[in-house]
Amino acid sequence: MGVNIAEVFGQDVFDETVMKDRLPESTYKEIEKIMHEGGNVTPEIADIVAQAMKEWAIEKGATHFTHVFQPYIISIGAEKHDSFASVPTNGKIDNTFTGKDLIMSEPDASSFPSGGLRNTFGARGYTAWDVTSPVYVREDTLCIPTAFCSYTGESLDTKAPLLKAMHAVSKYGVRLLRLLGNTTSRRILSYVGPEQEYFLVPKALYDKRPDLIYSGRTLFGTMPPKGQEMDDQYFGAIRENVKAFMDDVNIQLWKLGISAKTQHNEVAPCQHEIAPIFSISNVALDNNYLIMTILKNTALKYGLVCLLHEKPFEGINGSGKHNNWSLTTDDGINLFKPGKNPEENKLFQLVLACLMSAVDRHAMLLRTAASDTGNDHRLGAHEAPPAIISMYLGDQIEDIVNQILEKGEATSSLSAGKINFGINKLPVLDKDPTDRNRTSPFAFTGNRFEFRMVASGNSIGDTNTVLSAMMAEAFLDAIEALEGAEDMDKAVAEYTAKLMREHQRIVFNGDGYSKEWEEEAARRGLPNCKSIVDAIPSIVADSTIEMFEKFNILSRAELEAREDIYYSEYKGVRNIEANTMIDMANKMYIPTAVYYSKELADTVIAVKNAGADATAQVELLNEVSAKLLEMKNATKELARVTAKAFGAETSKESAELFKSEVMAAMDALRKPVDELETIVDKETWPVPSYGDMLFY
Ligand code: ADP
Ligand code: MG
Repeated sequence: MGVNIAEVFGQDVFDETVMKDRLPESTYKEIEKIMHEGGNVTPEIADIVAQAMKEWAIEKGATHFTHVFQPYIISIGAEKHDSFASVPTNGKIDNTFTGKDLIMSEPDASSFPSGGLRNTFGARGYTAWDVTSPVYVREDTLCIPTAFCSYTGESLDTKAPLLKAMHAVSKYGVRLLRLLGNTTSRRILSYVGPEQEYFLVPKALYDKRPDLIYSGRTLFGTMPPKGQEMDDQYFGAIRENVKAFMDDVNIQLWKLGISAKTQHNEVAPCQHEIAPIFSISNVALDNNYLIMTILKNTALKYGLVCLLHEKPFEGINGSGKHNNWSLTTDDGINLFKPGKNPEENKLFQLVLACLMSAVDRHAMLLRTAASDTGNDHRLGAHEAPPAIISMYLGDQIEDIVNQILEKGEATSSLSAGKINFGINKLPVLDKDPTDRNRTSPFAFTGNRFEFRMVASGNSIGDTNTVLSAMMAEAFLDAIEALEGAEDMDKAVAEYTAKLMREHQRIVFNGDGYSKEWEEEAARRGLPNCKSIVDAIPSIVADSTIEMFEKFNILSRAELEAREDIYYSEYKGVRNIEANTMIDMANKMYIPTAVYYSKELADTVIAVKNAGADATAQVELLNEVSAKLLEMKNATKELARVTAKAFGAETSKESAELFKSEVMAAMDALRKPVDELETIVDKETWPVPSYGDMLFY
């Protein structure tokens, strides 16, 4: 693609190097300090920084600036652009961008979901500059990452809670480290590397599918003769236009300082993945929004549409966003790294025990935070993790846990070994101590955990807020249990063993896709919520409110608002889907069946007139007529239950009706349509088939 990554990387970012270059030394130092240790940006500093930013941005061709924020549950971020134009004097205008423009903005908040936190007549909302996430220029606009809150200070986005949770885990993590004798670490950083999966389909075909246009997934359609059973897509050669698309995306991302690293074809036809190198959680959140936006926009340039829905096509894999997560101190101690001798690494063992207790306690909340409505189609569908949360540790670490459970301590560890191909021209490789487990929602991968449940179209904000918050809570519990111990080593060993004993049910190393695991998980009392609707109450569970309020991350009122937003999102999504189905049935499928049955009837008459046997044609005609009737009735029924669900008193009641009655009615309509698709002449069928879209 002819670019030198090192040269283009970060060229459109107002990063620390640019700041060092362009800011007076004292201002730079002040900003550095706020970035790393926190503090308030004074109006004086803001003015100086804004001036430098404006000059830099204008040199890059920017004419506008915007505060970028991500309203709660809307996956692609929101922006309101203002130009640098000042009030004209004597017919001339100047470029202006002040410190106030930089640090705050007041977008009208009334049209974003607020779950009742904000009355429509009290529409003010504020965005505030997130100093820790870099400012950049994109599409001639200076973009300032921000957090978004209401007039009364409640957060209306995923950023503010994430920042607070990151602060909490750092504070209590460091305090725990001090207790254990660490005197050097000053902060704990939560890192995330989100792997983004997506589909690309030809735009010309997409445009003929109202279901894709309105709901992001196909609501009708049957699998072609070939699916993904040959396993011939994964890591396969990348199509030429897709390769050109990926090159384009990469260059845009690199310029924005996003380290796009890995790309490959995924398991399903037309499915791909992009993964950047991991970064601090809030930056990863902002970067992931940009990645999603750039994937979508760039696809159009190549005659493609990027689908970020979790399950665009039934019968093949859906898309997720694997959230690779670790906690590392500012002086480089990765708390999830067992090291060469995990049996001796007491800190790792304690942190692991804390994590086991946190995941077990907040399993339902994790499941909810990682999901949106679309994820219901993916979880447990034999290719994504099940809806049950469990942890995979791998042989080596599970053995350590078992030793601790059996005898109170671990004294040895399974070694990793080597891989020898037995060919003396190939190198002998060091093996990882753990194999991968693709079926686990929360898998240990050697120095991090891969939370594989996260929905492809969702923000990673909630997920990482919960991860950091639950670890802050577990660290605080550990501090309280250990503080004042006479023999700290002994106390740590006992506390580690106690947590592991209490929460060992959360560990599962087997096949997460199997029926046996569902039964075993039920015996262990692990929750298995197939639908998000049943998991939503976890947002306001006592354990959730207690945790979030303790660390000032979210208040009860904010959590109750989020509960309502979740129900409303479910209601909204299903309502669009149901209405799209009704519309497609009435305007496309039913007329097709009417037309086709007329064709068949004419044929029957013609064949009979010719004195031949028309049994086959009559049979086909009867079949089509029967499906037509079934479709007609199912459409009517779907309209009835949709109206009923939509009109229910509360968003919760609505969501529950959509989940039960409307979903059943949607299935009942899809069935005859899909059956008809297998009978009706291809030329007559009104929309492109799965085969057309996936194997073009
Ligand atoms: P996989 O083989 O699991 O698909 P990928 O290479 O596609 O893995 O993605 C792995 C992701 O994990 C990358 O974003 C990578 O930067 C990230 N990662 C690696 N080490 C860490 C770590 N210590 N903490 C968080 N993320 C990490
Ligand atoms: Mg991957």
